[in-house]
Amino acid sequence: MNFDFTDEQKLFAESVRGFAQAHLAEGTLARAHNPRFPFGVAQQMSAQGLMGITIPAADGGQGGTLMDAVIAIEQIAAVCPRSADVVQFGNFGPIRTFAEYATPAQKAAWLPDLLAGRAVMSLGMSEPDAGSAATDLATSAKPDGAHYVINGTKLFSTFSPDAKVFLIYVRYGPGVGGIGSVIVERDTPGFRLGTPSSFMSGEEWCELHFENCRIPAENVLLGPGGFKRQISGFNVERIGNAARALAFGRYAFKAARDYVSTRKQFGRALCEFQGLQWKFADMAIRLEAAQLLLYRAAANADRGLPSAYETSVAKAACNLAGFEVAHEAVQAMGATGFSRETLVEWCMRRTRGWMIAGGSVEILKNRIAEHVFDRRFDQRGRQAAAAE
Ligand SMILES: Cc1cc2nc3c(=O)[nH]c(=O)nc-3n(C[C@H](O)[C@H](O)[C@H](O)COP(=O)(O)OP(=O)(O)OC[C@H]3O[C@@H](n4cnc5c(N)ncnc54)[C@H](O)[C@@H]3O)c2cc1C
Repeated sequence: MNFDFTDEQKLFAESVRGFAQAHLAEGTLARAHNPRFPFGVAQQMSAQGLMGITIPAADGGQGGTLMDAVIAIEQIAAVCPRSADVVQFGNFGPIRTFAEYATPAQKAAWLPDLLAGRAVMSLGMSEPDAGSAATDLATSAKPDGAHYVINGTKLFSTFSPDAKVFLIYVRYGPGVGGIGSVIVERDTPGFRLGTPSSFMSGEEWCELHFENCRIPAENVLLGPGGFKRQISGFNVERIGNAARALAFGRYAFKAARDYVSTRKQFGRALCEFQGLQWKFADMAIRLEAAQLLLYRAAANADRGLPSAYETSVAKAACNLAGFEVAHEAVQAMGATGFSRETLVEWCMRRTRGWMIAGGSVEILKNRIAEHVFDRRFDQRGRQAAAAE
């Protein structure tokens, strides 16, 4: 067991950090408070080889590892947290599932613009009556000659106000086996985006309405029975989500550490008070523990041993550590930390959202409990009903 990066990984981390310091150190606050997708940053990152890190070179990616993509998120977030969203989009989000399952024609149609940072993709899974119970989704796809007709509503889709192309989970027929996914372009007749709403984090999303929206059959990504394959791609998204949550917690931690090192009250630097020292020691323990869990999940996935359990443990630990540390960092910085002139309060709001998104902490704990007890717990209470 080795707890250090390889020489190659160290060099990669240094080069990403150098890029971030040269191109992203200025304007971090303005970028964070702008809900629009930062296409300019995405194009710079594309030129630097930071999009499609884990996508094969034959498909226009970099042919790298998941750990490389985690390193990229960490290094970018340490300089400009908002820009880490672009690393997430270009490496861990729906683009990754798309690149894995798309036909050569589908890849040729959409991957070049996505990997170049000219377009962004949004994922439509959640619905009014299907949140944590994702398999309750009702958006239907009915065959009609050489087309499919889509009807339904999606909520909360990240990047939806700016997306050109949408990966939509649909139902072809009943049950989990009836679920798959399609690609819908923004300007398709019958597809309408609602007025943008804001999350507490400042991120915006639109309702997606499909009313007899006809798409060509070539836009089917996964047919009936595709749900399990799609969800296994989701484990990768969870690693990116975990990496960002932890990196944002670390960003807030460092900002607060620097602040209490110089800010004086009662004639002493704040860091000289033991009450604050222990707060920072507790934050360090949380960050370090979650970091090791994240690296284990990513390294094992790279070794061909992706584990839903390890990913769930890593995401839950990083989501909680990221938020709790950012929350404590705000407290340690007093009104300055609570102010929008620092990114610390922003990191706290962003990390809070990831305790809900992409598999809430509770749903991850359900998954972890199944590993602990080595049995499945049916959340729909069928066993309870059967026992009555
Ligand atoms: C920042 C952000 C970004 C998002 N981006 C996207 C996106 O790009 N695409 C998309 O499709 N969706 C997106 N979502 C939606 C997200 O996937 C859902 O919010 C999530 O699945 C939870 O669904 P819900 O909000 O309907 O909560 P519900 O499912 O209604 O749950 C409410 C609460 O009950 C808990 N709960 C539910 N079931 C159980 C259970 N069996 N055991 C214990 N506790 C339970 C939940 O953990 C939660 O705390 C995003 C959400 C956020 C906050």
